[in-house]
Amino acid sequence: AAKAAGRNTFAFYDEVLEARQQAIAEGVRLAEQALKESALVLWYQPLVALHGPVLGVEALLRLDRRDGTLLSPETFFSALDHPLLAGKIGRFVLDSAIHQGLLWLEQGIRLRIGINISARHLLDSSFMQDMHAVLERYPDFPRELIELEVTESAPMLDFPSAIMTLQAINALGIHIALDDFGTGNASLTYLQRLPAQTIKIDQSFVRDILVDDKDLAIVTGVTSTAQALGMEIVAEGVETLEHARKLERLGVNLLQGYAIAKPMPAAAIPDWVRCYKPVLLDN
Ligand code: C2E
Ligand code: MG
Ligand code: MG
Ligand code: MG
Repeated sequence: AAKAAGRNTFAFYDEVLEARQQAIAEGVRLAEQALKESALVLWYQPLVALHGPVLGVEALLRLDRRDGTLLSPETFFSALDHPLLAGKIGRFVLDSAIHQGLLWLEQGIRLRIGINISARHLLDSSFMQDMHAVLERYPDFPRELIELEVTESAPMLDFPSAIMTLQAINALGIHIALDDFGTGNASLTYLQRLPAQTIKIDQSFVRDILVDDKDLAIVTGVTSTAQALGMEIVAEGVETLEHARKLERLGVNLLQGYAIAKPMPAAAIPDWVRCYKPVLLDN
């Protein structure tokens, strides 16, 4: 019986592996086709200061299927890590996000633009060239309004070269945010050495702060570390006003999440920004 169970386990394992490989291939295929058909679009999600103004937006990639449905990045994550596609997609995202930021600025709407950078693109030798090229195309967009979001774990893949690239980015006047913070085992030394201005606490910790003391402890710890290092702190995945109130008590005053706004098409942002009233807190 043990033997049979063992064989079944292996058969199951093979199936899991195969399913994963299929998902990787499918993601790459989807993204290749989307690049060819110009079917990649950016949606934008606001980021606000508690009691304060709209600070900026994060650009979030979507694949427009032209049948009224949009695919989120989880369906093509593998393409974001693909040696060729990571750069192609990354260049598209950089260009259209900064272009959009400039269009808003020209309409009198000044927003910081958060742009997600894949680890693959960040560590690619073409990355700085791509950055310079986009800055040359949009010389009128203030660099301090650009914030590159790098997942916490990305620099760990190649720490020396990531540090050099991030320093070069900072030297251009562009900000760096560590995304999904808390999921990648970053040490304090690591934090101290990374030239980043912002920490975005991952939504998996934020979600349960009302019910889980451990998550609450993590958010509290990350917040005081960020404050001690003079870094800005953003909570992601803020789904309710109760979360927002709790975060305020913890000293986190920059918020992003469904409680404020869901991601929306670029065309919806100007009206949303004009109508926005600070999330009112009654405590
Ligand atoms: P991320 O950078 O951490 O982005 C935040 C994700 O959380 C987004 O998912 C957003 O829609 C979602 N979100 C925001 N508020 C809430 C909330 O209150 N509750 C919940 N449950 N979710 C919320 P999305 O758009 O599906 O993107 C997923 C991930 O895909 C992103 O995580 C980012 O890592 C990656 N990604 C998105 N756009 C790009 C891109 O242009 N380039 C690269 N390289 N990666 C991207
Ligand atoms: Mg992000
Ligand atoms: Mg994140
Ligand atoms: Mg995330």
